[in-house]
Amino acid sequence: MSSNMERAKEWLRREKQWRANNEPTDYLDIAISALEKQMPKAVDDGLLNYSNLPISRCPICSSSGISPYKDRYCYNCGQLLKWEDTWNRRTKES
Ligand SMILES: [Zn+2]
Repeated sequence: MSSNMERAKEWLRREKQWRANNEPTDYLDIAISALEKQMPKAVDDGLLNYSNLPISRCPICSSSGISPYKDRYCYNCGQLLKWEDTWNRRTKES
């Protein structure tokens, strides 16, 4: 699914370049931005909260206090989050 989204994003980028000289392309920026929100972004290395549970910041808008237990998407900007790396590292360390 992610590679289809990459292809769609690439298509929109090319479409934007192609149209840019003749018409407004802000709607293509909106479409690209909406697609990017659906493409999982790895969460920064997690901290542990007072209950020893992983907690981190959004990689896009830096909102703090996001958790792999409740936040599949950033509560502030709507970015789809990818927790695996942080979570696996934490589980190996403990
Ligand atoms: Zn965010």
